[in-house]
Amino acid sequence: MQFISKKARAIAPYTAGEQLRDRTYIKLNTNENPYPPSLRVQEALAAFPAEELRRYPRPDADLLRAAIAGQEGVSPENVFCGNGSDEVLALSFPAFFDTDGAGACFADLTYSFYEVFASFFGIPVTIVPLRGDFTFDLDALARTVCRGYYIANPNAPTGVGIGRAEMERFVADVPEKLVILDEAYMDFFGESCVPLTQKYENVLVVKTFSKSYSLAGIRCGYAVGNARLIAALCRMKDCFNSYPVDAVAQAVCTAAVQDKAYYAGVTQAVISERTRLQGALRELGFTVPESASNFLFAGRARAGGREIYTRLKEAGILVRFWDKPVLKDFVRITVGTAAENDALIAQLKQILS
Ligand SMILES: *Cc1c(COP(=O)(O)O)cnc(C)c1O
Repeated sequence: MQFISKKARAIAPYTAGEQLRDRTYIKLNTNENPYPPSLRVQEALAAFPAEELRRYPRPDADLLRAAIAGQEGVSPENVFCGNGSDEVLALSFPAFFDTDGAGACFADLTYSFYEVFASFFGIPVTIVPLRGDFTFDLDALARTVCRGYYIANPNAPTGVGIGRAEMERFVADVPEKLVILDEAYMDFFGESCVPLTQKYENVLVVKTFSKSYSLAGIRCGYAVGNARLIAALCRMKDCFNSYPVDAVAQAVCTAAVQDKAYYAGVTQAVISERTRLQGALRELGFTVPESASNFLFAGRARAGGREIYTRLKEAGILVRFWDKPVLKDFVRITVGTAAENDALIAQLKQILS
């Protein structure tokens, strides 16, 4: 159609995991938290005055940013909030990269949104392969000519994490390049590089409320870094949307960051189930890289990724499958409740028998 731009016609958008509503599924495909948001979050939501929705929200989410800053041990000027960390990541491309010269560098197997954003903003990309065991080759990354990096840590969809000490060596090794660390799953690993943002100007950490905070539906994420990096993100935000974080999200997420104790318990529960599920999957013959996240990347079993995905779906269990090289031998399974994981294990036993 003549009204559609060349860009809109040509771009390959990101494909999110299925959000099917045709029946009740055990939903282990988009890394949501199996536990509910904290009671304080539920109270903040119930207490939110509808009258307040008449007004625009605080444009820079300053109360939420102050609460996040308090929790992360930084200043509010070091925090930027967006409509999900996907939006924060999107804005980071035009904020820190140009369409000419050296562009962005990331791994071959990582969050596929990076490629989409780079393509959307016309930013050149260099891809560096992971090692055969799905770990990052940080030396190869450091040698790559680029302006900056996107590193999901823990990585998606592999679940593999890089410890803070190792990441600090890398960051110190590439002082002229910006290192953007996507820590969507970091609470399940506990090696956050937020402290490095106080010491190194070239580190930006991006986090989300969608996974460890059980708030995927509220759409809020944030970045922590040097105040000048944060100001650049703000400038980009104000080119698209002055109010990306709505008033309800600001109130709810502020309550969430103030309830560390509850979320520490929930995170611990996910981690112990992860250990149990990882053991069970390996017993069934799956190759499962050691997970530092709330999901397991399981494959190379008697059945391929597509067959496992399809048969689980027929049985009412959703997992994630990608029909791409390497990934097609695997499925990505979100750690669920003990009962959900038991149901998954029982189905997998049948499928593989
Ligand atoms: C889930 C996820 C995000 C973020 O999601 P939002 O819901 O937009 O905050 C970002 N990066 C990775 C690697 C993820 O898996």
